[in-house]
Amino acid sequence: MATILNLLRGTKRVLPVALDRLGDGKNSPIKQVRVQEFKSIKTVQVLATQQSSGRYPKSKRPQAKSGFYNQQIKFVYENREEVGNRLPSLSADKAKIRCTCDAYYYYFWWYNKKVDAHSGTKFPKYIRKTPLPPEGYPEKNPQKIPGMCKHLAFLVRELRRAGVVK
Ligand SMILES: [Zn+2]
Repeated sequence: MATILNLLRGTKRVLPVALDRLGDGKNSPIKQVRVQEFKSIKTVQVLATQQSSGRYPKSKRPQAKSGFYNQQIKFVYENREEVGNRLPSLSADKAKIRCTCDAYYYYFWWYNKKVDAHSGTKFPKYIRKTPLPPEGYPEKNPQKIPGMCKHLAFLVRELRRAGVVK
């Protein structure tokens, strides 16, 4: 199990640049935010969309090709009675996350899946096509640490600011 704070700590270790740029005014606005409460499955779900920053060459992955990335955060409560009666907690509630961007895919989804912190369907498994160093690029996340991309980190920040989570 992982909380959002655990996952943010993972990002800090694996991909600190994702946090460095938050709030520098260069993030695309977050669109279509939806917060849904599902008492029966003890879950509060947040859905959102962000446009690609365009700083990186266009992805070839079908999930990311449109230039719009979809985020999902699920807070899984211990008791269904608490759903709707208290805010989701970044430090206490078990969280499952997903983003369709390349960073989430290449750095995190597989390791999140291993600790049950990936939400929704599996992505296609990554099969490395290039050699490891010294010939090729190093592994993205050699310590296999769960975490989140900048889109999810920005969404969390904005949710906290808006008082939707605590
Ligand atoms: Zn992302």
